[in-house]
Amino acid sequence: MQVIQVEAPSKTYQVFVKSGIIKELATYIAQLEKKPTSLFIITDSIVEKLYLDSVKQSLNHLKIYEGIIPSGEASKSFEQYERLLTIALQSQLDRHSLIVALGGGVVGDIAGFVAATYMRGIRFIQVPTTLLAQDSSVGGKVAINHPLGKNMIGAFYQPEMVLYDPTCFTTLPSEELRSGFAEVYKHGLINDELFFDWLHKEITDLTNIEPIVIEEMLKRSIEIKASIVKADEKESGIRAYLNLGHTLGHAIEKELGYGKMTHGEAVTIGILFAMNVSEELLKCSLPIQELKLWLSKLGYSTELPKILNSKQLLNTMKSDKKAENGTINMVLMREIGKVCLMPVKESTLLKHLEKMLE
Ligand code: NAD
Ligand code: ZN
Repeated sequence: MQVIQVEAPSKTYQVFVKSGIIKELATYIAQLEKKPTSLFIITDSIVEKLYLDSVKQSLNHLKIYEGIIPSGEASKSFEQYERLLTIALQSQLDRHSLIVALGGGVVGDIAGFVAATYMRGIRFIQVPTTLLAQDSSVGGKVAINHPLGKNMIGAFYQPEMVLYDPTCFTTLPSEELRSGFAEVYKHGLINDELFFDWLHKEITDLTNIEPIVIEEMLKRSIEIKASIVKADEKESGIRAYLNLGHTLGHAIEKELGYGKMTHGEAVTIGILFAMNVSEELLKCSLPIQELKLWLSKLGYSTELPKILNSKQLLNTMKSDKKAENGTINMVLMREIGKVCLMPVKESTLLKHLEKMLE
């Protein structure tokens, strides 16, 4: 088992990474300072079928309520948020109840937001089931989407603990593994060259990683996220480094239509783009070709889809990141493990977008 301490300024908690932990929730819940009066398990329609029974097995002595949302990003909506609150009220959850977020980033984000706002905030724990959720379940950003923007309605609200069972990855489709792994190697790129080199050496097939390597990979990735959250919980400074690859990544997701490409796969193309821009502006030399080769072997597309339009992408990037004086603030890379935030001219961005679309 790996245990990682997250020392966010507003709360300290632990992330436990252990195969089979999903069946041992009762043991961990019993460690909470105040025993919960009831549990509200929030999950999605796919995870419900795969894991809800296993989770409930150990909890049969507790009063349990369930809220199941349809699988997918569209569920981070006002409608589902209201529905979950209605179940919470009808079930008479009180201030000592505990919300259990069982699922990927979508469930973690909406369940966390329900927890942050129900009766002005009740406790919740994260039980992530996707690889991407090593990122989203740690750090306390919880949110739902507004029709005008993703994650626009939310809060910073930390969980009591995170219980991470890597055996859940065995049922994840390969594109979801790629989506999550992008956030893992991104942590290496922004913060830790040794970790990145280790991943490069160890990970040759995302569907076939030794359990011990998975645990080590999750541990280091979560440690990096935790260290950034400790330094800057509310993203007034270095937490923005986590956005490496996201300026273009978000624009690709939006322009293709959400769900056409997973988040991490779009971010991967965004990272390669950010590296191209970095080489020009920071006059550095980055191992872009080597990275592309490795990512292609892992099944990622490393090219911008040719149906996309450079000007349209730039416009979307501008609206996402609040452009100022003809520049967009972007995370750039000096070398592996060292990044910085810099304003980049729209003309430079357009030039590189056009090059990638040639
Ligand atoms: P997700 O929760 O939609 O999960 C992806 C798909 O996998 C879904 O269809 C889900 O039903 C299914 N699934 C989940 N676990 C499974 C399992 N073990 N086996 C088989 N299928 C499984 O998406 P995600 O990629 O986990 O998370 C994306 C969301 O996370 C986005 O909404 C994003 O905004 C959010 N996010 C939040 C943060 C944060 O800091 N809060 C960070 C990154 C991303
Ligand atoms: Zn991301």
